[in-house]
Amino acid sequence: MMIGIRTKANSGVIIKTSTTEKTILPKNSNMGRISFTAIQPNMDLVDKFPLDTEYKKSLAKSYNIKNPEILKPIMGIQELKYTLRTLKETNYDSGFVRPYKSKNPKQIKNGIYRANLHCHSNNSGDGTASVEEILNQAATLADNNYEILKKQSKNGQNAPFIIAITDHNTTDQCDEVINQLKGNPKKYRNLKILLGSEIETEQDGDIPKAHILVYGFNPQDKKLTEELPNSKKFSDIVEHLSGLKYGAMGIAHPQRMIGGKFKDLTENEQQKGSENYFGGILKEFKTHGKEKATFVENYYQSYYENNPTLKTAIKSASDNLKFISTGGIDSHANNIFTNTYDLSPNEITNLLN
Ligand SMILES: [Zn+2]
Ligand SMILES: [Zn+2]
Repeated sequence: MMIGIRTKANSGVIIKTSTTEKTILPKNSNMGRISFTAIQPNMDLVDKFPLDTEYKKSLAKSYNIKNPEILKPIMGIQELKYTLRTLKETNYDSGFVRPYKSKNPKQIKNGIYRANLHCHSNNSGDGTASVEEILNQAATLADNNYEILKKQSKNGQNAPFIIAITDHNTTDQCDEVINQLKGNPKKYRNLKILLGSEIETEQDGDIPKAHILVYGFNPQDKKLTEELPNSKKFSDIVEHLSGLKYGAMGIAHPQRMIGGKFKDLTENEQQKGSENYFGGILKEFKTHGKEKATFVENYYQSYYENNPTLKTAIKSASDNLKFISTGGIDSHANNIFTNTYDLSPNEITNLLN
C-alpha cells in the first residue's frame, strides 16, 4: 500500500565501482616485473564527509552515473549539518514579506539569502515552477553569492546557496534534478542541492496532521517506493522513514500543528503551553524517528500570522531537545523568493542581476 509517494520506477542497474588498474615496477628490483592491481577510490567523490561519499556512490549506482562531476552539487546529511551550523534565521529570508508589496532587496543583493530548504515544483500538483526553472534561479543566486562571499574572504567554506525541492508525497522531482545535473553539471558548480520530499501524515492521537520534510535520501530506496506502511499515522510514517538507508527528516512549519490552541491565553501562558505541547510532539518524533529525526523548520518565512511568542516557544522546545533548525519559504509560485506570489520575468531577472 502506498503512502502516496509516486516514483518513476528505476530498474536499479548496478554499475561497477570506479577502479584504476596500475602496474608498478619497483626500482632496482631484481625480482623482475611485479604487477599490482591497485584499487583506488575515485578522488572526486572523496571529501571530508565520508557518509555523504557513501550516499553519492549509492546514487551513482542507482542512476547509472559514471562521471562523479554530475553528483558534486548534491548535498548529503553530513555536509548539511556542517553547513547549517553557520546559517542564521536571516539566511533563510529572501526579503519578501507578505503581502509582497514590501521587500528588502538587500537580502538577495548582499548575499544574505542563502538557503531555501522547502519549495515545490509542478510535480507537487499545487506548484507552478518546473524543476529546471527552480534550479536556474538557485544556480544564478549561488553564483552571485559565491562572488560576494569570496570578497568577504569566507573561502567558500559554506555553500553559497542550498536548495531543496520538496514536492508532496513524491520523489519525481529528484529524478528531474538528477537529469538536469546530467545535462549540465558545470552550471550548478556553486549550488548545493538537497534531494527532498514533503510527506503528509494523518492525525495520530494527540498529534495533529503533520508534514514531514525528508532530506538526503536515495529516491530509489525501496522504503520510499515499495515497502510502504498501510497507515498514514504520524508514528507509523515517521517510524517507516527512520528505516531509510540515507537521509534525515524534520517537522515542516511546526506552527501549523498548534493552530489556534493557545491564542486566548496570556502571553506567558501561551509561551509555556506551546512549549510543552510542541515539546511533547517532538519527543514522539524522536521516539519513532530515532537518529533520523533531526530537524525542525523553525525559520519559516511564510507565516503570515507571524506570532513571535509562538515562534519563540517552538524554537525553545526544539533547542531543548537538540533539534537542528532549518528554514524555507514553501514556495509554490514561479520563483524561490515568495510563497505563492508570482513575480514577472523582469522582476526575477532584476533580483538576480
Ligand atoms: Zn507543508
Ligand atoms: Zn510545502
